[in-house]
Amino acid sequence: MKELQQLLKKFFGYSEFRPLQAEIIQHILQKKDALVLMPTGGGKSICYQLPAIYLPGITLVISPLIALMKDQVEGLIANGIPAASLNSMMSDSEQQQVKQLCIQGKIKLLYISPERVKAEADWFLPRLDISLIAIDEAHCVSHWGHDFRPEYTQLAILKERFSKVPVVALTATADKVTRTDIIEQLRLDNPQVFISSFDRPNLSLTVRRGLNKKEKIKSIVHFIRQHRDQSGIIYCMKRSDTEMLAEELSLFQIKATAYHAGLSPQKREQAQDDFIHDRVDVVCATVAFGMGIDKSNIRWVIHFNMPGSIENYYQEIGRAGRDGAKSDTLLFYSMSDLIVLRQFAEESGQVEINLEKLNRMQRYCETDICRRRILLSYFGEEVEKDCGNCDVCKNPPLRFDGSILVQKALSAVVRTQQQIGIEMLIHILRGAARAELTEKGYHLIKTYGAGRDLSYVEWKEYIYQMIQLGFLEIDYAHANRLKVTPLGTKVLYGKTTAQLTKYMPPEPEKKKTKASTGKKGFKAQPIRPIESESVDEVLWDALKQLRKQLADRESRPAYHIFTDDSLEDMVAQKPITLGDFNQIRGVGQIKLEKYGRVFVSLIRFVLKLPKLEG
Ligand code: ADP
Ligand code: ZN
Repeated sequence: MKELQQLLKKFFGYSEFRPLQAEIIQHILQKKDALVLMPTGGGKSICYQLPAIYLPGITLVISPLIALMKDQVEGLIANGIPAASLNSMMSDSEQQQVKQLCIQGKIKLLYISPERVKAEADWFLPRLDISLIAIDEAHCVSHWGHDFRPEYTQLAILKERFSKVPVVALTATADKVTRTDIIEQLRLDNPQVFISSFDRPNLSLTVRRGLNKKEKIKSIVHFIRQHRDQSGIIYCMKRSDTEMLAEELSLFQIKATAYHAGLSPQKREQAQDDFIHDRVDVVCATVAFGMGIDKSNIRWVIHFNMPGSIENYYQEIGRAGRDGAKSDTLLFYSMSDLIVLRQFAEESGQVEINLEKLNRMQRYCETDICRRRILLSYFGEEVEKDCGNCDVCKNPPLRFDGSILVQKALSAVVRTQQQIGIEMLIHILRGAARAELTEKGYHLIKTYGAGRDLSYVEWKEYIYQMIQLGFLEIDYAHANRLKVTPLGTKVLYGKTTAQLTKYMPPEPEKKKTKASTGKKGFKAQPIRPIESESVDEVLWDALKQLRKQLADRESRPAYHIFTDDSLEDMVAQKPITLGDFNQIRGVGQIKLEKYGRVFVSLIRFVLKLPKLEG
């Protein structure tokens, strides 16, 4: 165990294992099969990379995406671990070279695509001294999973040919059916199943509803300004929205690009590459984006529209903060999204399942209890405490007797013969002078203008609540008109009261003097150091600039040099000797030797200390 811990520090720079990592590794070292379920960013890779270093011979890693393989291999090499990949995109001579090195025993980890496994099973693979086989994204083998890949089903061949070699299958998404399916399809031999918590405490959770497109854009610009120089993804339901958003954001000097399946492969690759190398900060994308990238310093994810299920949502926000540093997520949700998603669900092959999934997603959006509790309970985890890192925990709902508001709204619905939708209702309540309103004579009804004291946004919020509470319902089949329910009628006639939750203007719209602060109170990303900034702020900025310079010089993504998490630790610890620097999270032997001096020198410079000796 001690030896494993030393290897963890030496090669990866971490002093402790995360929950379950040590157990999984020990299990693998006993040559037993395992199925590992951990959330994205949970630390699955180390579960097979460390045994790969420890064991004699070579470890095969099956991975579905070439970009992901490349990223992993580069990361390993940067930590001094001999690794290579083999896939069909490589030229014959490149493949030959890699095979030669593997046969000579010079490679510890070989990443190989599933289709190559079959092709190499007769000649090349049997010539290797294979000590472990890791199957990443193992849910791809199952029809039940959300990402079935036919090539994966051929992987059963591995157990047939190499029956003595332990196999570890890893995935971030697997319900019970998929789990069983993975075990059967891969012919795992009596595997132990390791399920880690799906909690990602470093991700903050916020949901905002009822904003129209313009308001959302305004709010996103504000959000990005508070996350200056940070990488983020905005997920949109529609391709056209990704392009519209990227353009809008560019008008605000935000470096943004669009990504969707309708773009040419070159354009998509360019967008991805620019993002990985921090040449653009923001990718506005459909859900087609993200699978193949391992970028660990994505600091935020915004959903421009509501996702269709909690699984999708969790996977998408999970792309933020893989390095463990604090990251923010924001989801916009509106009735119109819901209407579109309902339609998708109804047209899908599995109407009932998909409607139920959508229902759960909606409930998550509309909850007034800790959101993380809802998420985790969805994944079958019980949680005892509120998280303190979601919008509900941060701004607990304030309730008030809203009976009069409900009566005003419901009375307007009744007086218009239940022929209107949400927007018209608000216009009537606020006494708007709109043509389509006066044409219908709605300005003559008694409730016209009865709610002038509230803003449009406030009314929208309260009407949502009325729908949620079951006073009103939406007639989806008839132009989404509002109908008063029997319960609503009771409130209307004063037979019962209605408790509403006070509308709170969201954070970004409250006046703020300074940009938002990151961990431990230092501003995460100032544009450039100015006199009045604290040492921590200046140091953070300087470290980031140094990292970027090194990354550019080596043509590698910045997070390969050091993660944001490592930089944060440097700001907190302020290492001024190489010995101190070795204690930083993510600093292993190679990185200490390669980058220790420049980073320590910079830290000493910022702290106005004499130069490093020697
Ligand atoms: P996954 O494959 O589960 O999505 P990764 O293996 O990419 O996650 O790990 C996510 C991040 O966590 C990486 O930056 C990794 O270096 C880091 N990490 C993994 N194990 C540890 C650990 N024991 N201590 C600190 N950081 C870790
Ligand atoms: Zn919470």
